[in-house]
Amino acid sequence: MGSATAHRKNVIVLGAGVVGLTTALKIQEQRGYNVSLLADVLPSDEKSTKYTSHWAGAHHVLNVTEDARQQKMDLETFKVMWELSAPGTETEQYFKRIVQTEYYTNTKLLPPLDRMPNYKVLAPETLPTGIVHGSSFSTLTIDTPKYLAYLAARLVSAGGQLVRGSVQHIDQVLEGGAGIFTPNRTPARPDAVVVCTGLGTRFLGGIEDKDMHPIRGQTVLVRAPWIDFGRTIGAENSWTYVIARHSGDVILGGTRSVDDWYPLPRPETTRDILERTFAMCPELAPPEVRAQRKPTIEDVLPLVIEEGCGFRPARTGGIRLDVEWRGAGKGAKKVPVVFNYGHGGYGFQSSWGSANIALKLLEEAMAGKF
Ligand SMILES: Cc1cc2nc3c(=O)[nH]c(=O)nc-3n(C[C@H](O)[C@H](O)[C@H](O)COP(=O)(O)OP(=O)(O)OC[C@H]3O[C@@H](n4cnc5c(N)ncnc54)[C@H](O)[C@@H]3O)c2cc1C
Repeated sequence: MGSATAHRKNVIVLGAGVVGLTTALKIQEQRGYNVSLLADVLPSDEKSTKYTSHWAGAHHVLNVTEDARQQKMDLETFKVMWELSAPGTETEQYFKRIVQTEYYTNTKLLPPLDRMPNYKVLAPETLPTGIVHGSSFSTLTIDTPKYLAYLAARLVSAGGQLVRGSVQHIDQVLEGGAGIFTPNRTPARPDAVVVCTGLGTRFLGGIEDKDMHPIRGQTVLVRAPWIDFGRTIGAENSWTYVIARHSGDVILGGTRSVDDWYPLPRPETTRDILERTFAMCPELAPPEVRAQRKPTIEDVLPLVIEEGCGFRPARTGGIRLDVEWRGAGKGAKKVPVVFNYGHGGYGFQSSWGSANIALKLLEEAMAGKF
Protein backbone atom coordinates (compact mmCIF):
# COMPACT_ATOMS: atom_id res chain seq x y z
CA MET A 1 0.00 0.00 0.00
CA GLY A 2 1.46 3.41 -1.03
CA SER A 3 1.74 6.13 1.60
CA ALA A 4 -0.97 8.22 -0.10
CA THR A 5 -3.39 5.29 0.26
CA ALA A 6 -2.27 4.51 3.82
CA HIS A 7 -3.16 8.00 5.02
CA ARG A 8 -6.61 7.97 3.60
CA LYS A 9 -9.60 7.76 5.91
CA ASN A 10 -11.70 4.62 5.55
CA VAL A 11 -15.36 5.47 5.11
CA ILE A 12 -18.22 2.99 4.91
CA VAL A 13 -21.27 4.13 2.97
CA LEU A 14 -24.27 1.96 3.77
CA GLY A 15 -26.78 1.57 0.92
CA ALA A 16 -26.27 1.37 -2.85
CA GLY A 17 -29.36 3.17 -4.15
CA VAL A 18 -28.97 6.47 -6.00
CA VAL A 19 -28.37 8.28 -2.69
CA GLY A 20 -25.65 5.92 -1.42
CA LEU A 21 -23.94 5.65 -4.82
CA THR A 22 -23.85 9.42 -5.38
CA THR A 23 -22.70 10.11 -1.81
CA ALA A 24 -20.00 7.42 -2.01
CA LEU A 25 -18.79 8.82 -5.31
CA LYS A 26 -18.70 12.37 -4.02
CA ILE A 27 -16.57 11.25 -1.03
CA GLN A 28 -14.30 8.93 -3.05
CA GLU A 29 -13.62 11.61 -5.66
CA GLN A 30 -12.59 13.98 -2.88
CA ARG A 31 -8.94 13.45 -1.98
CA GLY A 32 -8.15 11.55 1.19
CA TYR A 33 -10.81 8.87 1.45
CA ASN A 34 -11.16 5.15 0.71
CA VAL A 35 -14.85 4.38 0.36
CA SER A 36 -16.43 0.96 0.79
CA LEU A 37 -20.04 0.92 -0.31
CA LEU A 38 -21.87 -1.77 1.61
CA ALA A 39 -25.41 -2.90 0.77
CA ASP A 40 -27.58 -5.97 0.68
CA VAL A 41 -29.03 -5.03 -2.74
CA LEU A 42 -26.70 -3.78 -5.47
CA PRO A 43 -27.62 -2.01 -8.75
CA SER A 44 -26.88 -5.14 -10.80
CA ASP A 45 -29.45 -7.21 -8.85
CA GLU A 46 -32.97 -8.01 -9.98
CA LYS A 47 -35.57 -5.36 -9.29
CA SER A 48 -37.42 -5.61 -5.97
CA THR A 49 -39.14 -3.36 -3.46
CA LYS A 50 -36.00 -3.62 -1.28
CA TYR A 51 -34.31 -1.23 -3.71
CA THR A 52 -36.40 1.75 -4.77
CA SER A 53 -33.95 3.36 -7.18
CA HIS A 54 -34.59 0.80 -9.94
CA TRP A 55 -38.23 1.86 -10.13
CA ALA A 56 -37.99 5.63 -10.51
CA GLY A 57 -39.15 7.23 -13.77
CA ALA A 58 -37.25 9.42 -13.47
CA HIS A 59 -37.55 13.05 -14.41
CA HIS A 60 -36.20 16.22 -12.85
CA VAL A 61 -38.99 18.66 -12.04
CA LEU A 62 -38.64 21.30 -9.35
CA ASN A 63 -41.88 20.35 -7.67
CA VAL A 64 -41.12 21.03 -4.01
CA THR A 65 -42.99 24.12 -2.92
CA GLU A 66 -41.90 25.12 0.58
CA ASP A 67 -38.63 23.48 1.57
CA ALA A 68 -35.72 25.84 0.73
CA ARG A 69 -33.06 23.21 1.55
CA GLN A 70 -34.73 20.73 -0.81
CA GLN A 71 -35.02 23.34 -3.57
CA LYS A 72 -31.29 24.09 -3.29
CA MET A 73 -30.42 20.38 -3.45
CA ASP A 74 -32.65 19.94 -6.50
CA LEU A 75 -31.09 22.90 -8.31
CA GLU A 76 -27.55 21.70 -7.60
CA THR A 77 -28.47 18.25 -8.90
CA PHE A 78 -30.04 19.69 -12.02
CA LYS A 79 -26.82 21.53 -12.82
CA VAL A 80 -24.74 18.33 -12.54
CA MET A 81 -27.19 16.26 -14.55
CA TRP A 82 -27.56 18.92 -17.23
CA GLU A 83 -23.80 18.74 -17.77
CA LEU A 84 -23.81 14.93 -17.77
CA SER A 85 -26.60 14.95 -20.37
CA ALA A 86 -24.81 17.33 -22.77
CA PRO A 87 -24.83 16.13 -26.39
CA GLY A 88 -21.54 14.55 -27.42
CA THR A 89 -20.58 13.39 -23.90
CA GLU A 90 -20.15 9.71 -22.97
CA THR A 91 -22.81 10.12 -20.30
CA GLU A 92 -25.58 11.58 -22.47
CA GLN A 93 -26.93 8.04 -23.05
CA TYR A 94 -28.21 7.89 -19.44
CA PHE A 95 -30.36 10.99 -19.90
CA LYS A 96 -32.82 12.48 -22.34
CA ARG A 97 -33.28 16.21 -22.64
CA ILE A 98 -36.95 16.89 -23.23
CA VAL A 99 -39.67 19.50 -23.29
CA GLN A 100 -41.92 18.81 -20.30
CA THR A 101 -45.55 19.91 -20.18
CA GLU A 102 -47.25 20.13 -16.78
CA TYR A 103 -51.01 20.44 -16.44
CA TYR A 104 -52.81 21.18 -13.20
CA THR A 105 -56.45 20.79 -12.24
CA ASN A 106 -56.07 23.27 -9.35
CA THR A 107 -53.74 26.27 -9.10
CA LYS A 108 -53.18 25.48 -5.39
CA LEU A 109 -51.08 22.49 -6.52
CA LEU A 110 -48.68 24.63 -8.57
CA PRO A 111 -44.96 24.17 -7.71
CA PRO A 112 -42.28 26.84 -8.45
CA LEU A 113 -41.56 25.61 -11.96
CA ASP A 114 -40.65 29.06 -13.26
CA ARG A 115 -37.00 28.36 -12.41
CA MET A 116 -36.83 25.61 -15.03
CA PRO A 117 -35.13 26.60 -18.33
CA ASN A 118 -37.39 27.92 -21.11
CA TYR A 119 -40.38 28.09 -18.76
CA LYS A 120 -43.59 29.19 -20.51
CA VAL A 121 -47.16 29.46 -19.28
CA LEU A 122 -49.48 27.92 -21.85
CA ALA A 123 -52.36 29.95 -23.29
CA PRO A 124 -55.64 29.03 -21.51
CA GLU A 125 -57.40 28.26 -24.81
CA THR A 126 -54.80 25.52 -25.56
CA LEU A 127 -55.43 23.62 -22.31
CA PRO A 128 -57.26 20.26 -22.30
CA THR A 129 -60.68 20.01 -20.63
CA GLY A 130 -60.51 20.11 -16.83
CA ILE A 131 -57.07 21.77 -16.76
CA VAL A 132 -56.82 25.24 -15.19
CA HIS A 133 -53.08 25.83 -15.61
CA GLY A 134 -50.44 24.54 -17.98
CA SER A 135 -46.76 25.23 -18.50
CA SER A 136 -43.84 23.87 -20.46
CA PHE A 137 -40.08 23.96 -19.87
CA SER A 138 -36.87 22.12 -20.69
CA THR A 139 -35.64 19.37 -18.41
CA LEU A 140 -34.14 15.89 -18.50
CA THR A 141 -35.18 12.34 -17.75
CA ILE A 142 -32.94 9.62 -16.36
CA ASP A 143 -32.75 6.01 -17.55
CA THR A 144 -32.49 4.90 -13.95
CA PRO A 145 -31.19 1.27 -14.16
CA LYS A 146 -28.46 2.33 -16.62
CA TYR A 147 -27.55 5.47 -14.67
CA LEU A 148 -27.19 3.45 -11.43
CA ALA A 149 -24.83 1.02 -13.21
CA TYR A 150 -22.83 4.02 -14.46
CA LEU A 151 -22.53 5.47 -10.92
CA ALA A 152 -21.34 2.09 -9.59
CA ALA A 153 -18.74 1.75 -12.37
CA ARG A 154 -17.52 5.32 -11.81
CA LEU A 155 -17.14 4.63 -8.08
CA VAL A 156 -15.05 1.52 -8.71
CA SER A 157 -12.86 3.25 -11.29
CA ALA A 158 -12.25 6.08 -8.79
CA GLY A 159 -10.89 3.46 -6.35
CA GLY A 160 -14.00 2.72 -4.25
CA GLN A 161 -15.25 -0.80 -3.62
CA LEU A 162 -18.68 -2.41 -3.57
CA VAL A 163 -19.34 -5.01 -0.90
CA ARG A 164 -22.51 -7.02 -0.45
CA GLY A 165 -23.75 -7.42 3.10
CA SER A 166 -26.96 -7.23 5.07
CA VAL A 167 -26.29 -5.15 8.18
CA GLN A 168 -28.44 -6.07 11.17
CA HIS A 169 -27.12 -3.38 13.52
CA ILE A 170 -24.99 -0.27 12.89
CA ASP A 171 -22.56 -1.52 15.58
CA GLN A 172 -21.55 -4.36 13.26
CA VAL A 173 -19.89 -1.93 10.84
CA LEU A 174 -18.67 0.45 13.54
CA GLU A 175 -16.64 -2.42 15.02
CA GLY A 176 -15.76 -4.51 11.96
CA GLY A 177 -16.21 -2.28 8.88
CA ALA A 178 -17.10 -3.72 5.48
CA GLY A 179 -14.39 -6.38 6.02
CA ILE A 180 -16.78 -8.54 8.05
CA PHE A 181 -18.65 -9.21 4.80
CA THR A 182 -15.68 -9.85 2.48
CA PRO A 183 -14.73 -13.47 1.67
CA ASN A 184 -11.39 -13.31 3.56
CA ARG A 185 -12.98 -11.59 6.62
CA THR A 186 -10.72 -8.65 7.42
CA PRO A 187 -12.48 -6.66 10.17
CA ALA A 188 -11.23 -3.10 10.74
CA ARG A 189 -12.86 -0.14 12.44
CA PRO A 190 -13.80 2.55 9.90
CA ASP A 191 -13.00 6.24 10.41
CA ALA A 192 -16.60 7.19 9.57
CA VAL A 193 -19.90 5.67 8.45
CA VAL A 194 -22.49 7.28 6.16
CA VAL A 195 -26.01 5.87 6.36
CA CYS A 196 -27.96 5.96 3.06
CA THR A 197 -30.23 2.99 3.65
CA GLY A 198 -33.50 4.52 2.40
CA LEU A 199 -36.58 2.74 3.69
CA GLY A 200 -34.29 0.10 5.26
CA THR A 201 -33.41 2.69 7.92
CA ARG A 202 -36.74 1.88 9.56
CA PHE A 203 -35.34 -1.57 10.39
CA LEU A 204 -31.58 -0.97 10.75
CA GLY A 205 -30.63 -1.90 14.34
CA GLY A 206 -29.41 1.03 16.41
CA ILE A 207 -31.21 3.57 14.18
CA GLU A 208 -34.74 2.16 13.59
CA ASP A 209 -36.20 5.44 12.38
CA LYS A 210 -39.97 5.02 12.69
CA ASP A 211 -40.52 8.27 10.76
CA MET A 212 -39.58 6.26 7.65
CA HIS A 213 -42.52 4.89 5.68
CA PRO A 214 -43.26 3.80 2.11
CA ILE A 215 -45.20 5.77 -0.47
CA ARG A 216 -45.88 3.03 -2.96
CA GLY A 217 -45.68 3.93 -6.63
CA GLN A 218 -46.74 1.66 -9.47
CA THR A 219 -45.58 2.13 -13.07
CA VAL A 220 -45.81 0.57 -16.52
CA LEU A 221 -42.86 0.52 -18.93
CA VAL A 222 -43.71 0.62 -22.64
CA ARG A 223 -41.68 0.63 -25.82
CA ALA A 224 -42.56 3.83 -27.68
CA PRO A 225 -39.44 5.43 -29.19
CA TRP A 226 -41.57 8.00 -31.04
CA ILE A 227 -42.38 9.75 -27.74
CA ASP A 228 -39.75 12.43 -27.20
CA PHE A 229 -41.39 14.60 -24.53
CA GLY A 230 -42.71 14.45 -20.97
CA ARG A 231 -46.26 15.21 -19.87
CA THR A 232 -47.91 15.25 -16.45
CA ILE A 233 -51.36 16.01 -15.07
CA GLY A 234 -51.31 16.95 -11.41
CA ALA A 235 -54.69 16.55 -9.72
CA GLU A 236 -55.74 16.48 -6.06
CA ASN A 237 -55.85 12.70 -5.83
CA SER A 238 -53.74 11.50 -8.72
CA TRP A 239 -50.66 12.20 -10.78
CA THR A 240 -50.61 10.95 -14.33
CA TYR A 241 -47.32 11.06 -16.18
CA VAL A 242 -45.45 9.98 -19.29
CA ILE A 243 -41.64 9.99 -19.05
CA ALA A 244 -39.65 9.26 -22.23
CA ARG A 245 -36.19 7.74 -21.79
CA HIS A 246 -33.15 7.97 -24.06
CA SER A 247 -33.47 4.25 -24.91
CA GLY A 248 -36.92 4.70 -26.48
CA ASP A 249 -38.67 3.12 -23.49
CA VAL A 250 -41.30 5.22 -21.77
CA ILE A 251 -42.43 5.09 -18.12
CA LEU A 252 -46.13 5.55 -17.46
CA GLY A 253 -47.49 6.36 -14.03
CA GLY A 254 -48.39 6.95 -11.47
CA THR A 255 -49.73 6.19 -8.06
CA ARG A 256 -48.92 7.44 -4.55
CA SER A 257 -50.18 5.25 -1.73
CA VAL A 258 -48.88 6.09 1.69
CA ASP A 259 -48.01 3.16 4.01
CA ASP A 260 -48.89 0.63 1.32
CA TRP A 261 -46.41 -2.28 1.60
CA TYR A 262 -47.80 -4.53 -1.16
CA PRO A 263 -44.68 -5.56 -3.14
CA LEU A 264 -46.15 -6.61 -6.50
CA PRO A 265 -47.89 -4.64 -9.27
CA ARG A 266 -51.67 -4.86 -8.98
CA PRO A 267 -53.24 -5.70 -12.39
CA GLU A 268 -56.20 -3.32 -11.92
CA THR A 269 -53.77 -0.47 -11.19
CA THR A 270 -51.79 -1.26 -14.34
CA ARG A 271 -55.01 -1.00 -16.36
CA ASP A 272 -55.90 2.28 -14.62
CA ILE A 273 -52.43 3.74 -15.38
CA LEU A 274 -52.71 2.72 -19.04
CA GLU A 275 -56.18 4.28 -19.32
CA ARG A 276 -55.17 7.55 -17.67
CA THR A 277 -51.95 7.97 -19.62
CA PHE A 278 -53.59 7.09 -22.94
CA ALA A 279 -56.38 9.61 -22.30
CA MET A 280 -53.74 12.28 -21.55
CA CYS A 281 -51.37 11.21 -24.31
CA PRO A 282 -52.98 9.45 -27.33
CA GLU A 283 -49.57 9.77 -29.04
CA LEU A 284 -48.65 6.59 -27.11
CA ALA A 285 -50.31 4.63 -29.92
CA PRO A 286 -47.87 3.88 -32.79
CA PRO A 287 -47.70 6.65 -35.44
CA GLU A 288 -48.67 4.25 -38.25
CA VAL A 289 -51.91 3.42 -36.41
CA ARG A 290 -52.67 7.08 -35.74
CA ALA A 291 -52.10 7.85 -39.44
CA GLN A 292 -54.88 5.42 -40.42
CA ARG A 293 -57.56 5.66 -37.72
CA LYS A 294 -58.44 6.90 -34.24
CA PRO A 295 -56.31 4.83 -31.85
CA THR A 296 -57.68 2.92 -28.86
CA ILE A 297 -56.02 1.61 -25.72
CA GLU A 298 -55.79 -1.80 -27.42
CA ASP A 299 -53.07 -0.25 -29.61
CA VAL A 300 -50.96 0.47 -26.54
CA LEU A 301 -51.27 -2.91 -24.77
CA PRO A 302 -48.78 -4.73 -27.08
CA LEU A 303 -46.16 -2.10 -26.23
CA VAL A 304 -46.00 -3.06 -22.52
CA ILE A 305 -42.57 -4.36 -21.44
CA GLU A 306 -42.91 -4.40 -17.66
CA GLU A 307 -45.22 -3.56 -14.77
CA GLY A 308 -43.64 -2.69 -11.47
CA CYS A 309 -43.83 -0.93 -8.16
CA GLY A 310 -41.43 0.67 -5.73
CA PHE A 311 -41.57 2.14 -2.24
CA ARG A 312 -40.58 5.81 -2.14
CA PRO A 313 -38.56 6.10 1.10
CA ALA A 314 -40.50 8.94 2.72
CA ARG A 315 -39.63 10.48 6.07
CA THR A 316 -41.95 12.52 8.24
CA GLY A 317 -39.99 15.76 8.68
CA GLY A 318 -38.03 15.42 5.42
CA ILE A 319 -34.60 14.09 4.51
CA ARG A 320 -32.33 13.37 7.47
CA LEU A 321 -28.94 15.07 7.00
CA ASP A 322 -26.98 15.26 10.24
CA VAL A 323 -24.15 13.65 12.24
CA GLU A 324 -23.93 11.58 15.42
CA TRP A 325 -20.76 10.32 17.08
CA ARG A 326 -20.87 6.62 17.88
CA GLY A 327 -18.58 3.81 18.94
CA ALA A 328 -19.21 0.07 19.28
CA GLY A 329 -17.45 -2.31 21.63
CA LYS A 330 -15.87 -1.67 25.02
CA GLY A 331 -13.86 1.59 25.20
CA ALA A 332 -14.20 2.14 21.45
CA LYS A 333 -13.28 5.51 20.03
CA LYS A 334 -16.35 7.31 18.71
CA VAL A 335 -16.46 8.08 14.99
CA PRO A 336 -18.84 10.28 12.98
CA VAL A 337 -21.95 8.66 11.56
CA VAL A 338 -23.46 10.87 8.84
CA PHE A 339 -27.10 10.35 7.88
CA ASN A 340 -28.47 10.92 4.37
CA TYR A 341 -31.81 9.17 3.87
CA GLY A 342 -35.55 9.77 3.51
CA HIS A 343 -35.66 11.23 -0.03
CA GLY A 344 -39.26 10.14 -0.74
CA GLY A 345 -40.21 10.81 -4.36
CA TYR A 346 -37.17 13.00 -5.13
CA GLY A 347 -34.08 10.84 -4.61
CA PHE A 348 -32.71 11.25 -8.12
CA GLN A 349 -33.39 14.94 -8.46
CA SER A 350 -31.84 15.74 -5.08
CA SER A 351 -29.03 13.14 -5.19
CA TRP A 352 -26.04 15.41 -5.96
CA GLY A 353 -27.26 18.23 -3.72
CA SER A 354 -27.79 15.95 -0.73
CA ALA A 355 -24.42 14.25 -1.37
CA ASN A 356 -22.77 17.70 -1.22
CA ILE A 357 -24.33 18.30 2.21
CA ALA A 358 -23.34 14.83 3.44
CA LEU A 359 -19.73 15.38 2.30
CA LYS A 360 -19.60 18.75 4.06
CA LEU A 361 -20.94 17.20 7.28
CA LEU A 362 -18.33 14.44 7.03
CA GLU A 363 -15.45 16.86 6.39
CA GLU A 364 -16.47 19.15 9.24
CA ALA A 365 -16.77 16.20 11.61
CA MET A 366 -13.37 14.81 10.56
CA ALA A 367 -11.84 18.25 11.08
CA GLY A 368 -13.24 18.21 14.61
CA LYS A 369 -15.61 21.10 14.06
CA PHE A 370 -18.39 19.29 15.96
C1 LIG B 1 -42.64 4.90 -9.13
C2 LIG B 1 -41.57 5.81 -8.65
C3 LIG B 1 -41.24 6.93 -9.40
C4 LIG B 1 -40.24 7.81 -8.97
N1 LIG B 1 -39.91 8.87 -9.75
C5 LIG B 1 -38.92 9.72 -9.36
C6 LIG B 1 -38.55 10.83 -10.18
O1 LIG B 1 -39.11 11.03 -11.26
N2 LIG B 1 -37.53 11.65 -9.74
C7 LIG B 1 -36.89 11.40 -8.56
O2 LIG B 1 -35.99 12.17 -8.21
N3 LIG B 1 -37.22 10.36 -7.77
C8 LIG B 1 -38.23 9.53 -8.14
N4 LIG B 1 -38.60 8.48 -7.33
C9 LIG B 1 -38.00 8.38 -5.98
C10 LIG B 1 -36.63 7.70 -5.99
O3 LIG B 1 -36.72 6.47 -6.64
C11 LIG B 1 -36.17 7.51 -4.55
O4 LIG B 1 -36.19 8.73 -3.84
C12 LIG B 1 -34.72 6.97 -4.52
O5 LIG B 1 -34.61 5.84 -5.34
C13 LIG B 1 -34.29 6.63 -3.09
O6 LIG B 1 -32.97 6.15 -3.17
P1 LIG B 1 -32.23 5.57 -1.88
O7 LIG B 1 -30.82 5.37 -2.31
O8 LIG B 1 -32.51 6.43 -0.71
O9 LIG B 1 -32.95 4.18 -1.57
P2 LIG B 1 -32.89 2.75 -2.31
O10 LIG B 1 -32.76 2.89 -3.76
O11 LIG B 1 -34.05 1.97 -1.80
O12 LIG B 1 -31.54 2.09 -1.76
C14 LIG B 1 -31.42 1.67 -0.43
C15 LIG B 1 -30.13 0.88 -0.30
O13 LIG B 1 -29.91 0.59 1.08
C16 LIG B 1 -29.62 -0.77 1.23
N5 LIG B 1 -29.96 -1.19 2.59
C17 LIG B 1 -31.08 -0.88 3.30
N6 LIG B 1 -31.02 -1.45 4.52
C18 LIG B 1 -29.84 -2.12 4.58
C19 LIG B 1 -29.20 -2.92 5.57
N7 LIG B 1 -29.75 -3.11 6.79
N8 LIG B 1 -28.01 -3.49 5.29
C20 LIG B 1 -27.41 -3.29 4.08
N9 LIG B 1 -27.98 -2.54 3.11
C21 LIG B 1 -29.18 -1.96 3.35
C22 LIG B 1 -30.42 -1.45 0.14
O14 LIG B 1 -29.94 -2.76 -0.12
C23 LIG B 1 -30.16 -0.47 -1.01
O15 LIG B 1 -28.92 -0.76 -1.60
C24 LIG B 1 -39.58 7.57 -7.74
C25 LIG B 1 -39.89 6.43 -7.00
C26 LIG B 1 -40.88 5.56 -7.44
C27 LIG B 1 -41.19 4.34 -6.63
